[in-house]
Amino acid sequence: MPRMADGRDMPHATFVRPDLGSFCRLDELGLQVVGQRLELGRAVLACRIVETDEFARWCRRCGGEAAPRDSVTRQLAHEPLGWRPTTLLITIRRYRCTGCGHVWRQDTSRAAEPRAKLSRHALRWALEGIVCQHLTVARVSEGLGVSWNTANDAVLAEGSKSSATRWSRSTHDSNPTRRHIKAGAMQPSLEYRVCV
Ligand SMILES: [Zn+2]
Repeated sequence: MPRMADGRDMPHATFVRPDLGSFCRLDELGLQVVGQRLELGRAVLACRIVETDEFARWCRRCGGEAAPRDSVTRQLAHEPLGWRPTTLLITIRRYRCTGCGHVWRQDTSRAAEPRAKLSRHALRWALEGIVCQHLTVARVSEGLGVSWNTANDAVLAEGSKSSATRWSRSTHDSNPTRRHIKAGAMQPSLEYRVCV
């Protein structure tokens, strides 16, 4: 229960207007929901990028001003809601410099790594699912609505660069294809199967 400044329980919780973007934590990814499509077994959220860069429309090659050219879409798997896979369909604006003709697109780095198929929250969800909930990669990929390879590759890449985790090949495991993630600093005694 929320507490007041003096430590007493707040008599009435405060509610605000429902907001799909904040509920799905898309605001943390720099995205705004503009539409939803609920399909059998999955949800698709149409998003646009909340532009915060005041220089987004200025050419980094010649300093000239750009005009909107067209848009492209990028699809990302997001953390599932109620175990229903949630897909983000992001419309990305492309600009063309009126001076030198250089073309670029809006920055989506808050939402995901370049060329990634999982949003940053989806990646976190997958990693925590495997490390903390002992989920298999198959279950994680099912939750995200992506292929086993996509989920596995993303988790391996994220796990290998995370400072809180380190990867090891078990020395007491007879199966050489089995790899483990060891939560080094946080839970040094625990090992988790990542791929078999
Ligand atoms: Zn230019």
